[in-house]
Amino acid sequence: MLSTLANYLKKNNVKIITDAKVLGFIFSKNKISGVKVGEKIIKTDKVILCTGGKTYPITGSTGDGYGWAKESGHTIIMPTPALAPVKIQEAWVSDLQGVSLENAKINLWQNDKKQKSYSGEILFTHFGLSGPLIIDISKVINALLQKGSVAIELELFPEMTISELDKKLILAFRENNKKDIKNYFKEMLSQKILNLILKLAEINPDKKLNFLTKKERQKIVALLKSLKFTVSQVLGFEQAMITSGGVALKEINPKTMRSKIIENLYFAGEVLDLDGPTGGYNLQICWSTGYLAGESAAKII
Ligand SMILES: Cc1cc2nc3c(=O)[nH]c(=O)nc-3n(C[C@H](O)[C@H](O)[C@H](O)COP(=O)(O)OP(=O)(O)OC[C@H]3O[C@@H](n4cnc5c(N)ncnc54)[C@H](O)[C@@H]3O)c2cc1C
Repeated sequence: MLSTLANYLKKNNVKIITDAKVLGFIFSKNKISGVKVGEKIIKTDKVILCTGGKTYPITGSTGDGYGWAKESGHTIIMPTPALAPVKIQEAWVSDLQGVSLENAKINLWQNDKKQKSYSGEILFTHFGLSGPLIIDISKVINALLQKGSVAIELELFPEMTISELDKKLILAFRENNKKDIKNYFKEMLSQKILNLILKLAEINPDKKLNFLTKKERQKIVALLKSLKFTVSQVLGFEQAMITSGGVALKEINPKTMRSKIIENLYFAGEVLDLDGPTGGYNLQICWSTGYLAGESAAKII
């Protein structure tokens, strides 16, 4: 495959330059006539701008392309970090580091009002929450944060109401009254979650179930139904996976990816005002627009 590609490039006199920083475009009349690469100017008939977004800059995508697009007359929709993990205020969240819940039910709260509910996979980290669900809804969390504080509530037994769960535990504790609390719950909860719940409820994990008071049981029920984490921030450009915003789509022909402003300029990938959820959609965006831009730019106009 690679040798076929190498032969094809050689046959068509294609030269690939790597490890070279592009500094900008040279314009002549209403076209780009060259690209500044270090001290050199490379003359060009067509340019495909595909410099990515400005998230995860360690990969080389630092947002340079937005400036060149703007210089070419294009509108830039404010780039913002998207698909990012969330930092949590409560220091005890780090007790849960490494815990992953495949089908967690979570609710977003703002000013004592439930805003939205979601189900999906979440992962606890040393600083807060990540995993596909959290990353997908980070945009919603960010929007809510603009209006005030946000809490993420984890419901560990979503199928039961508080009173149903309480009744279930009264019966179960009666039947297992000789067991200590940490052994009773170990079948249902991850050890780290159980330890945290008991820590927050201030209950000794070795306490036998028949010595548990009504107040202690109710504290456990309340935490099982609502374990709340206060969001301190959605992580920014350094850790977010993609950039939302970018070159406005209305100024690009979607059939060719060609600029409607500069006739020999094409766009592809994350530099565009296009983004999707996790699951390969963002890679698909860059592959599809890249294919189309490459095919269109190669055609003689
Ligand atoms: C950690 C992480 C995980 C991800 N996981 C997924 C996933 O599972 N599924 C998914 O669909 N998407 C995922 N993404 C997003 C996906 O990788 C991007 O959307 C995609 O790579 C964008 O492709 P692109 O070609 O537009 O830009 P990029 O891949 O960012 O490439 C742009 C290139 O332009 C170069 N460049 C920038 N400025 C200059 C300059 N001035 N001179 C020369 N070169 C320059 C950069 O060095 C870079 O090589 C992930 C992203 C990250 C960071």
